[in-house]
Amino acid sequence: MIAETFKNSARILSGAVIAEAIKAEVAEEVRRLEKNYGFRPALTVVRVGEDQASAVYVGNKVKTSAELGIISEHRHLPLETSPAELLQIVEELNNRADIDGILVQLPLPKQIDESAILQKIDPEKDVDGFHPVNVGRLSQGQKSLVPCTPAGVIEILKRSNIEIAGKHAVIVGRSNIVGKPLAMLLLQENATVTICHSRTTNLAAMTSQADILIAAIGRAGLVRGEHIKQGATVIDVGINNVSDVELARELFDESELEKRLATIEKRGFTLVGDVNPKEAKAKAANFTPVPGGVGLLTVAMLMKNTVDAAKMRRKLN
Ligand code: NAD
Repeated sequence: MIAETFKNSARILSGAVIAEAIKAEVAEEVRRLEKNYGFRPALTVVRVGEDQASAVYVGNKVKTSAELGIISEHRHLPLETSPAELLQIVEELNNRADIDGILVQLPLPKQIDESAILQKIDPEKDVDGFHPVNVGRLSQGQKSLVPCTPAGVIEILKRSNIEIAGKHAVIVGRSNIVGKPLAMLLLQENATVTICHSRTTNLAAMTSQADILIAAIGRAGLVRGEHIKQGATVIDVGINNVSDVELARELFDESELEKRLATIEKRGFTLVGDVNPKEAKAKAANFTPVPGGVGLLTVAMLMKNTVDAAKMRRKLN
């Protein structure tokens, strides 16, 4: 049977190996900038409130900056910070000549309009790539600061020697953070791009045409074998907490299940992507794991964006 032949044949694309390679390149570039031009790139991360996941993400960003020689500053503001107070800090950072990158960690508390804040960040320092100027530049194929997670997906594909040009890439998810910018990047790489979303009818009919299938949905294991073309590359952007033991049994094969069940018992949940890994491994040629896949690229690409912003501001190559 064909399905048997392909069973568990997918190559697992390790985000860890690719992220380490990118970080080593960034560290080398930081050393070169310091040696040749006498400065080190600097990043400020602003966090408002006590969101636990945000605290972990910001901690990783600050720690990785230090490892690579990037100067970093963490501004932690109280939950009750007003929009005007946050805007004032953004203005101050925009005006500081020593700061190259500004990142306002999302989500923000409910009294603050996220898009109003993101629009106030100087586009030249917008290392998240969310400012409308950078979004516009990206859509026109101009040099810009590109959102980190989609940029990481492209790095995984390229560094794994997966051909993009002429291939049909199907993205599930149309968020401003992942789906839409990724569509622009894949178009730039000459893929034929389809974007699916929550109102797409007959999702499997679309996704099963994909040479490259990217899931950025936020629903554990939604993408199943029936959604995947035999031999496709499947990139799983999703990060979901699964605490349901029965669901874990549906998602993981015997090589992983025991470890996952132990994690659920110890931590109360295990991290799962938007793709059913057991079924993807049986059908795909290439597959990114969760954890250990796209997630690790996001911080690496933020570091690269900070260095790129520092160089663009100073008109250096
Ligand atoms: P979002 O909630 O903003 O967007 C989700 C998208 O999925 C929407 O466009 C929606 O139309 C689509 N969708 C929802 N249900 C669907 C369904 N049943 N069928 C088809 N499409 C459906 O989410 P986001 O911010 O783009 O994040 C998506 C996932 O990626 C989440 O799990 C998030 O945690 C993860 N994420 C990971 C990283 C990373 O570093 N790896 C970064 C950002 C987001």
